Amino acid sequence: MVQSVNSIPPLDLTQQYATIATEISDAVLGVLSSGRYIGGPLVEGFEQQLASYVGVSECVACNSGTDALYLALRALKVGAGDEVITTPFSFFSAAEAVSAVGATPVFVDIDARTFNLNVEQVAAAITDRTRAIIPVHLFGQSEDMTAIMAIAQSHQLAVIEDCAQSAGANWMGQKVGSIGHVGCFSFYPTKNLGGCGDGGAVTTNDPTLATMMRMLRQHGEQERYLHKEIGINSRLDALQAAILQIKLRYLDIWNEQRRTISARYYQLLSHVPGIVIPQELAEGEGVWNQYTIRLCKGTQTNGGTACSRDWVRSQMQERGVSSTVYYPRPIHLQPVYQDLGYRLGQLPVAEQICHEVLSLPMFPELSTEQQDQVIHSLKDCLA
Ligand SMILES: *Cc1c(COP(=O)(O)O)cnc(C)c1O
Repeated sequence: MVQSVNSIPPLDLTQQYATIATEISDAVLGVLSSGRYIGGPLVEGFEQQLASYVGVSECVACNSGTDALYLALRALKVGAGDEVITTPFSFFSAAEAVSAVGATPVFVDIDARTFNLNVEQVAAAITDRTRAIIPVHLFGQSEDMTAIMAIAQSHQLAVIEDCAQSAGANWMGQKVGSIGHVGCFSFYPTKNLGGCGDGGAVTTNDPTLATMMRMLRQHGEQERYLHKEIGINSRLDALQAAILQIKLRYLDIWNEQRRTISARYYQLLSHVPGIVIPQELAEGEGVWNQYTIRLCKGTQTNGGTACSRDWVRSQMQERGVSSTVYYPRPIHLQPVYQDLGYRLGQLPVAEQICHEVLSLPMFPELSTEQQDQVIHSLKDCLA
């Protein structure tokens, strides 16, 4: 695609890299000349730094956010015959990890205002087989962790927080990833704390779980060549750890920049007819991995492409502004979950929202001028 000089991408990783390029290249060259590429002090150092940032005693780094979710479920001994309640409106990973351990994902509808779980429906979905809840702090907003922890406690369920999009977010002053039994982070490049490749981590205050997850990420080895479990190979590279150590030091600054941008979107878009802007619960402080609006104007067709959102998106694209649809299809209606027997119309909020959402450009370096261009192009389309 040819982009004009003034075109605005949904996110731009090169600008951020430029601000820390020297630090990163020094660190990377240091790793290359060290000869220690897997494990070692850089990985352990990063684990300690992330644990202390999140406010937990234990952190185990691994290869991706998806693996982090898998390791958490395995360590909690969730498996065949078990049910895990999670959201249908997210990236696929949480559901996928549940299926990968042999358990069944149970999808409940979301709250249209926050895009997060509808907690009443979580409570209603609990059965004898329910073992865990995976709240996903979507787009950087914390779930209602007070409600979720209360439900979990009264039914003795484990809570695995999917923090992939929410590094640094908090709920009532407590960082996400420190509230449930395990927190799962992704360092995929587009996340708020993103590496230069794949990466992930789990956080917990439970040393037994941490020991198990450490073992499972390395072939179930308790010590070298002594295998106590069937594990996986899921380690964080020293190169990524070195880069992430640097980026973690900037995370609060970058998250603050995202908050400023989101406040400005709020200020300039909240009164525009046809747009519903995302809401933050008062107890939470989000980190805006995405700024996702809903376009509820015009005719929408169920399952079709002829909805006003797609038209607006293409019109904005013609004006040089790229936006993204997270997510175009709810997980309970994915082909692979056909056998679970969900019907169209069963989780109506999630289904509807997939046709309405549009994520506007959001990255810490987005300038005021660029943001104005985004807003003008959007308002033009709605006029
Ligand atoms: C990115 C993401 C994941 C998966 O992380 P990977 O590192 O890509 O495996 C899981 N959950 C959510 C909500 C995500 O956005």
